Amino acid sequence: MKDCLFCKIANKEIPAETVYEEDDTLAFLDIAPINPGHTLVIPKEHATNIFDISSESWAAVAETARKIASAVQAATGADGVNVNMNNGEVAGQVIFHPHVHIIPRHQGDGLEHWGKKEYKEDEEKEIAEKIRNSL
Ligand code: ZN
Repeated sequence: MKDCLFCKIANKEIPAETVYEEDDTLAFLDIAPINPGHTLVIPKEHATNIFDISSESWAAVAETARKIASAVQAATGADGVNVNMNNGEVAGQVIFHPHVHIIPRHQGDGLEHWGKKEYKEDEEKEIAEKIRNSL
């Protein structure tokens, strides 16, 4: 897509610190890393996010993310890795081309997990039923 930053990176119109490339996917360093080695995995085919990515692109992205997670952990000496995807502005998506974050994590790196909520009475069964009915 013409004005998409990640399409431009995939087409080599904009430089990026690429760490891996396949026919359908590209992996490159996030320019504003949460921790050094924070890598993004994108499909070369344009879409917006998880809601419209093709099955083929998603499968390719998932497999590349699996490979990159191991490489990032090995290269950075991380104790763990977060694999994350933000879908929609309210979920923190900034670039509207699908991308999976591979974030190396270290003991005591200062990042915290999300807070948790509790279900109200019957809420858990109701939302599970709504999800099942949406498939
Ligand atoms: Zn794009």
